Amino acid sequence: MRILLTNDDGIFAEGLCALYDNLSLEHKVFVVAPEAERSAVGHAITISEPLRIKKVKRGRKFFGYAVNGTPADCVKIAIHELIGPHIDLVVSGINRGANVGINVLYSGTVSAATEGVILGFPSIAVSLNAYHDPDYCFASYFVNSLLEKWRAIFNELSFCLNVNVPALPAHKIKGIKWVPQSISPLLERFERRIDPHGHLYYWQCGERFTEENPDTDVKALEQGFITLTPLFFDLTYKEILPALKEKSLFFDL
Ligand code: MN
Repeated sequence: MRILLTNDDGIFAEGLCALYDNLSLEHKVFVVAPEAERSAVGHAITISEPLRIKKVKRGRKFFGYAVNGTPADCVKIAIHELIGPHIDLVVSGINRGANVGINVLYSGTVSAATEGVILGFPSIAVSLNAYHDPDYCFASYFVNSLLEKWRAIFNELSFCLNVNVPALPAHKIKGIKWVPQSISPLLERFERRIDPHGHLYYWQCGERFTEENPDTDVKALEQGFITLTPLFFDLTYKEILPALKEKSLFFDL
């Protein structure tokens, strides 16, 4: 397969390199990724500044293109300018930290993958549920074997597959679960601090999920399952559309 590989942790992030090393054993992998970390930028794109591209080496070999933009910018410019449309799949990750529940909306990793679907390519977003001392070995191996088994599915269906892998040794992972995205709100906290000049500032911290349903990405991941969630970028709330149409008759002009 011809794979476009990107992420939101930056082109030199360990998770992207681990995935590159594994996927390039059997596939042609093109790397186009942000030059620095752009986590939690969601689906932002750059429109008021120029996008600049740098060719990047790893060791002495050409590795990919670093972009001074967002993950979604990377996918757009890769397809339209750098690599061209002859790719089979967009893969984004491996992200340092899970992308489940409402965090899917804030995630640059997931947005790069959904940008792939917007442009007409199936995609996979991969995240590891670890922030400290992450080990990407198993997660990258898992993605590679997933591609082997599901190549036909990705050829047939154009959707974004959101994959989250627990930070556990392989023998402790409980299995693989297809689950929907949790929509329970996060419990968030802002820490108030004073900077050296005496000015108040805030730092967002200590977020926690409130989800209790085991049949969701949040809970299944917490329980030690690899979670698989198909995503699509249509945010329309289809269930209430008919009711709203009926109620808004007075808008007729
Ligand atoms: Mn990230």
